[in-house]
Amino acid sequence: MTLRRASGRLRTRMLQGFCILKCNSNAKRLKDLLLNSDNRVCADCDAPDPKWASANIGVFICLKCCGGHRSLGTHISKVLSVTLDDWSDDEIDSMVEVGGNSSANSIYEAYFPEGFSKPGPEASNEERMKFIRYTFCLPRLYTINGSDCSTGKYGHPPVV
Ligand SMILES: [Zn+2]
Repeated sequence: MTLRRASGRLRTRMLQGFCILKCNSNAKRLKDLLLNSDNRVCADCDAPDPKWASANIGVFICLKCCGGHRSLGTHISKVLSVTLDDWSDDEIDSMVEVGGNSSANSIYEAYFPEGFSKPGPEASNEERMKFIRYTFCLPRLYTINGSDCSTGKYGHPPVV
């Protein structure tokens, strides 16, 4: 029985089955990504076992850095839980396309001024926020991640 020919309750059950399969396949793709060694630590602070991700930036991050990303707004960083949220195909595709934490970091780190470095896992909230705002709101990166920090709502990072 094909979905097109099915009707009523059978069609509903087939659609539900399709949805479960699709959701499971997305969860597996996400899990596979997390198995990559560079995704086993937070992209921002190197804390182990990140359980969050920024779907549009394409990085896996820890809970502490997740707060910093959230404060930027979803137009800059769309934060999702790896275990609790449902991911769309597009969101997973975007993570796969970026290629993981190392790949994303190599793009952003190219814009760091000399002496500017990532905060460690034990960094204060302030240090973490400064790093996250600087890295993802840097005006030069507008064209890379399609972000718009022009409102100045969060304060511009120093221009290098
Ligand atoms: Zn972190």
